[in-house]
This record gives sequence, C-alpha cells and structure tokens, in this order.
Amino acid sequence: MQNVLILGTGSAGLTAAIYTARANLEPLVLEGLQPGGQLTTTTDVENFPGFPEGIMGPDLMDRMKKQAERFGARFKMALVEKADFSSQPYKVTTDDGTVYEAKTIIISTGASAKYLGLPSEQKLIGRGVTSCATCDGAFYRDVPVAVVGGGDTAMEEATFLTRFASKVYVIHRRDEFRASRIMADRVLNHEKIEVIWDTVVTEVLDVEKNEVTGLKLKNVKTGEESDLAVQALFMAIGHKPNTDPFQGQLEMDDVGYLKTTSTRTSVPGVFAAGDVQDPLYRQAITAAGSGCAAALEAERFLESAGHGA
Ligand code: NDP
Repeated sequence: MQNVLILGTGSAGLTAAIYTARANLEPLVLEGLQPGGQLTTTTDVENFPGFPEGIMGPDLMDRMKKQAERFGARFKMALVEKADFSSQPYKVTTDDGTVYEAKTIIISTGASAKYLGLPSEQKLIGRGVTSCATCDGAFYRDVPVAVVGGGDTAMEEATFLTRFASKVYVIHRRDEFRASRIMADRVLNHEKIEVIWDTVVTEVLDVEKNEVTGLKLKNVKTGEESDLAVQALFMAIGHKPNTDPFQGQLEMDDVGYLKTTSTRTSVPGVFAAGDVQDPLYRQAITAAGSGCAAALEAERFLESAGHGA
C-alpha cells in the first residue's frame, strides 16, 4: 500500500514527487508513455525561472527526476489503464495487469496537443512543427510562420507570434472562426496576419533541410492546391487531456479536463495537477506550481484523522 501514488512525470508529477519525497512519504511514481511529459518534445526552454541561458526540455525533466530520486521517490514505467476510487484504498491498474493500492493519488497525466497526423508533420515535430507559441515563437524572428486552427488558442497563438514573425498565416478549414469575437477580431484586424480560409494542410515540406520550409495546402471548396513558404507550423487544433482511465470515477468538464478546487478532485484524497486539470495556462511552471500544491494537499490529507502515513 502506497502513501502517495503519482501518475505521470511531467513537471507537475515530478514536482509533486519532490515535495512528497521530502516529506518522507516515499511516493511511487508511474511514468506512463511519455516520461518527462510534453517538455521532452521541445528543445530550448527559455521561460522556466532559474535558467537565464535557457535549458533543453529533456534536460530540465531529467534534473527534476534526479531531484525527486535524491529524496527517495521511486519510479516505475507503467501505463495506467483504469482506476477505482470508489473506496479506500484507491486502486490503479496498469497495462501489465498490476494493481497499485494507495491512500492518496496525484493525477498528473497531462494533456496531449492534437496534431493532424500527417507523416510529414510527425517527422518535423520539434523541427519547426510545434504546438506551443509561448515556448517556441521567439525562435522564429523575422520569418513567416503559420498557425492551424480557428479557436481561441489559434487566435491567441497567432496574435502572440506577430511579436516575432515577419508574417503570420492562420489556416482554417472553414470560412468562419470558432473563436470568441474579441479574439477573432484581433486576428482579423492585425496587419501582420493573413487568414487562409477553407483550407487544410496536406503536407509539411522540408526541402533539402530537416526542418520546416513550407506547406502544401488544399482549398476544401475549390480543391485548388498551393504551396506556402513558412519556417514554422504552430498547431492549435485543441488539446486532449489524458483522463480516459478516470472516466466515471472523477468529475470532468465536457472536454475531459478534471474538475478541481485548488488541486482537489471530486474524490477526497485524489488530487490533480498540471495540464490534466488546466485548459488555460498549460505552462511548465504553472504545472510545477500545481504539483507542489497537490503534494501539500496530499500530505495534509494523510495527516488528517484515520489516514496517518
Ligand atoms: P477549440 O476546440 O475551441 O478549437 C479547435 C480549432 O481547431 C477549431 O477551429 C477546429 O475547427 C480546428 N480543428 C480541430 N481539428 C482540426 C483538424 N483535424 N484539422 C483542422 N482544423 C481542426 O480548441 P482551442 O484550443 O482553441 O480552445 C479550447 C478551449 O480553451 C476553448 O473553450 C477556448 O475558448 C479556451 N481558450 C480560451 C482562451 C482565452 O480565453 N484566453 C485561450 C485559449 C483557449 P472547427 O472550428 O472547424 O471545428
């Protein structure tokens, strides 16, 4: 029986591991499919405080893991398949059939940015194809870039990218935005932004380079095909929180994000931190902050009557 079982090893899970390990709770951390989380798919991280020269995403996550191990956190590679939070001890079953029992659970399974699924796009993730303008926008100064999507995220990313790029193309599959009026107007009225309506990306080009050099586009109404020269493609077609194993166990919003008060989920003793409960900020530092909060709340829960560690 574990005091604390942490699911996921992005910056939320690893911060929760550091805090619960330092509190002598000997957390067990299940690493999941993408150890290190979304930061392992980025290169330079320039906005995590404490690294004035920047740090590589995988390096940052590796350091967080070592810091947690130093205080006694234990790690296992295992993919969570289902959970039973109907009574104590809480149970989590992984893909190899192992059932883990724990007094408290911290869910930090993250969210995955959606991509189009084109082979050429997948090949260039991290080399011009990205899903985070805040993380990668500053690398594309004075060059043209493209954003795909028509929701608030696409509007926000496109507007943000005008600070750096010479030109921002917004490529949307329909002839109107889903985004809120105010954010859409900001895009429509911006002199650096050009919207390409009714259009999908059919291929990401990397002519003679192993990084993005352009896009092949197709107008879905006329069938017309064209090429667009850009040096980066920012995907903004939504995120999917990784909450499938918790369906029916915890309250979620329409999209599947866990509903939380601070980091408390709808089940006492089950906490959630990071992108799995945050559709708004989705930053490594906010995830780390909520991982710390979840750890402190788990600690307090264990101290409360009947759950002494
Ligand atoms: P949304 O689901 O709102 O929008 C996704 C967009 O991507 C849609 O325009 C959709 O097109 C398009 N899309 C989806 N799949 C594909 C595909 N396969 N190919 C091409 N285009 C595709 O996601 P967001 O991330 O924009 O927003 C999520 C939530 O977060 C929303 O509630 C939003 O309001 C909120 N948010 C709020 C912000 C703020 O207020 N500051 C900032 C960012 C997000 P279509 O329209 O045709 O379906």
